[in-house]
Amino acid sequence: MQDYHMHTYFSADGLMDTFEACQQAIKMGLKEIAFTEHVDFDPNDLGYEFLNFEKYTASIHEAKSLFQKNLDISQGLEIGIQSYFSSEIDAYLADKDVDFVIGSIHMVDHYDLYSGEYFIDRNESECIKGYIKETTAAVECCRGFDILGHLDLVTRFTKYFEKIEYPDYATEMENLFKILIGKQIGIEINTSGLRHSEFTNPAPHILRHYFELGGRLLTLGSDAHKVENIAYGFDKMIALALEIGFKEYYVYKKRNPSPVKITASR
Ligand SMILES: [Zn+2]
Ligand SMILES: [Zn+2]
Repeated sequence: MQDYHMHTYFSADGLMDTFEACQQAIKMGLKEIAFTEHVDFDPNDLGYEFLNFEKYTASIHEAKSLFQKNLDISQGLEIGIQSYFSSEIDAYLADKDVDFVIGSIHMVDHYDLYSGEYFIDRNESECIKGYIKETTAAVECCRGFDILGHLDLVTRFTKYFEKIEYPDYATEMENLFKILIGKQIGIEINTSGLRHSEFTNPAPHILRHYFELGGRLLTLGSDAHKVENIAYGFDKMIALALEIGFKEYYVYKKRNPSPVKITASR
C-alpha cells in the first residue's frame, strides 16, 4: 500500500518530521510514501514562501538512504493552484526535479476556504458553483501537476452543506472531469475527510462519476500532517475504490505514473 499525500515540518502546518513519518509508514505496513509539501503563491496563504526546497530535498535524500531496505520514498509537492497564478506556478516548477505534483484548490477568488472567509455573504449554490468554476479554470490553465487534490474540499469548511449534491452540479463536474481526463491529470481519494465526516474527498458519488466517464488515473492519500494520520481510513478507501470498479491506483517516479493493482489487503 502507498500513501501519496503527507506533510512534515517543511509545510507551515506540518506536525511531524521526515524521519518519524518514514518510521510510522513502515510500522503501518506501507511499501511506499510520497511527501507532498505545500507550495502556495498567494501572500495571504499560510504557506506563502515557506518551503525551503533545498533543505527538503536534502532531507528526502537522507531518508532514502536510511530507509532504503524498507520503504520506497517519492518526493512530491502540493501546489496551491489558482488560475491567476498559473505563470508563477510554471516558473516555480520549471527547475524542480520531483517525482509527483498534486495541484489543489485552497483558495477561491483570493478567499481562503480554510479560514471560512469564502463562505461569508455567499449562499450554498454560489459557494459550490464558484468553487467548481475556479477549479475548472485552474485545471485549464495551470500545467505541471499530475493529480487534482481533494476535489470537493469546499464541503469541509462550512456547516451549511456536507456534499456537492447530484444531480444539481453533475453538469459542471462532468465538464471538469472531461478536461482532467483529456489532459491526463488524475484525481486522488483523500481520506482526511474521514477524520471530520463520513465522506472521503471527493465523496463516493463524485468518484463514481469520474470512473463512469472513463477516469482511471487515481492516487491514494491520507493528507497526514502528523504521524497518527498516516494511512488513516485506507481500509475504507480501498473498499470504496473496489466497489466503484477501480482495479488500479498509481504511483509516480519522475512524474511518470505506474499502476498498482488494488487488493483488499495491504
Ligand atoms: Zn490541500
Ligand atoms: Zn495536503
